[in-house]
Amino acid sequence: MATTTLRDEATGLLQELLRLDTVNPPGNETVAAELLRDYLGASGVACELYALEPERANLVARLPGRGEGPSLLLLSHTDTVVADPAEWSVDPWSGELRDGCVWGRGALDMKGHAAAAATAIATLAREGFEPAGDLVFAATADEEVGVDVGLSWLVRAHPEAVRTDYCVNEGGGERVVLGGRPVYVCTTAEKVSAPFRLKVHGRSGHASMPGIADNALVRAAGLIQRLAALEQPLRLIPETDALFAALGEVPDESDLERAVAELSPDVRELVEPMLGTALSPTVISASQRTNVIPGLCEVVCDCRLLPGDTPEGVEPVIRAALGEDAYDLEWIETVGGTRSPLATPLWDAIEAFVAEDDPGAGVVPVVSPGFTDSHFLRQAFGTVAYGFLPMRTMDADLAARLIHSADERIAVEDLELGVRFLRHVAATLGA
Ligand SMILES: [Zn+2]
Repeated sequence: MATTTLRDEATGLLQELLRLDTVNPPGNETVAAELLRDYLGASGVACELYALEPERANLVARLPGRGEGPSLLLLSHTDTVVADPAEWSVDPWSGELRDGCVWGRGALDMKGHAAAAATAIATLAREGFEPAGDLVFAATADEEVGVDVGLSWLVRAHPEAVRTDYCVNEGGGERVVLGGRPVYVCTTAEKVSAPFRLKVHGRSGHASMPGIADNALVRAAGLIQRLAALEQPLRLIPETDALFAALGEVPDESDLERAVAELSPDVRELVEPMLGTALSPTVISASQRTNVIPGLCEVVCDCRLLPGDTPEGVEPVIRAALGEDAYDLEWIETVGGTRSPLATPLWDAIEAFVAEDDPGAGVVPVVSPGFTDSHFLRQAFGTVAYGFLPMRTMDADLAARLIHSADERIAVEDLELGVRFLRHVAATLGA
C-alpha cells in the first residue's frame, strides 16, 4: 500500500465500483456498499450498513472526532441511471481505463466522486488523522429515483448516523471561464420543483359534429401558448449577488433585464435560471378516442421556483398570463428549494484550495435547477451542504453531455484532483 499513489488507489477503487451494476431501478446498491465497507475497513475506518430493503443498503463510515470542532460529511450515492450498451464505445460496466479516463456508467454521476471521497478518508485514516469533529463518509442508495430507501429515509430512521455540520456532495465543481475569468461553480442552493396541472374544461361531443361541442384540447392549445410566452419577472437573490460580485459588478435590480441581455452568452446561460421561475408544459392528455371531442384536457407543467419562493407567490403571475378561461390550476407537489449560507468555513476551505491549486481562478455560488440529496440534510439538520468536486481536465460542456448519457467517463487527473480536494477540506475543517 505504501507505494500506491492517491491516483492509482482512487482509479482502482472506481474501476471496481463501475463493474457493479447498480442501475436504479432496481438499484441493488448493497454490492457497492459492501465493496466500500471492505475497502474502508482495511484502512481502519469504522463502517455501518443501514438498509430498509436488504438489497438497497446505505453505507456510513466514520473517523471519530476529538469533539473539538465541526463535523463533516462526504456524501455520494451509489446508484446510477440505465445504460444502453449499443450506444457506448465500451462496455458501460467495464470500468475500462482508456485515453486517460475511467469509463463506465456512473463515472461522473457519481461513483467517481464516491471513489475520491472513500480514498480521501481511507488515506487520512492510515496516516493517523484525528479530526476535530467527526469525519463521515456516506454512500447512499436511491438518489436517481427516490423511493425513500436512501438519504431521505436515513435522515428520519438513523439521524445520528448522518447528522453533520457540513457536507460536500455532488452537483458542482466544474471549471468555466466567465467573462474571461476562470471560476469553479459551487452549488449552494436548489430551486423548488413545483409542477402544476391545468384542467381545461370544454364540452364533449361526437367528432363528426364539432359545432355542437367545445373542444377542450383546442382551448388548452391557446393556454399552452400563453404559458410558453410568459415573461417571468427577474430578480436578484444572495447567490446571484455573490456571483455577479465575483465576476466584477452587481447589476442594478431596476434595470436587470437590460443588464442580463448584455451579459456574454456563457454568463447568461449560467445566470438566467437563477433569476426567476422556469416553466415548461410537458405532459398533455385529452380524449382517448379519435371520434370523441374531449370535454376535459389536462396539461402538466414542470415549474421551478427560486429558493424561498412559493406556489402561492407565483400563481398570480401565471393566472394573469393565462387570462380568464375555463380552467382549474392545481399545484401537484412542492419539493426542494433549500439553500445554505455562503459565508462559511466550508466556503473558505473551497476557496483556499482553488487559490492554491489554480492561481487566478475564483469560486462562484450557483443555484441548481435540479434536486440533489443535499436538500434532505439542509431540511433535517440545517447542514451547510455544497455541491463541489473540482474538475478541470475534462471540459465542463463535455462532462454535462456525458452525464446520464453514453460513454460517461472521468479523467484520471480529475479523479486525483478530487481526492486532493476532499483531503484538503477534511484536514482544514478538522484541524
Ligand atoms: Zn447524481
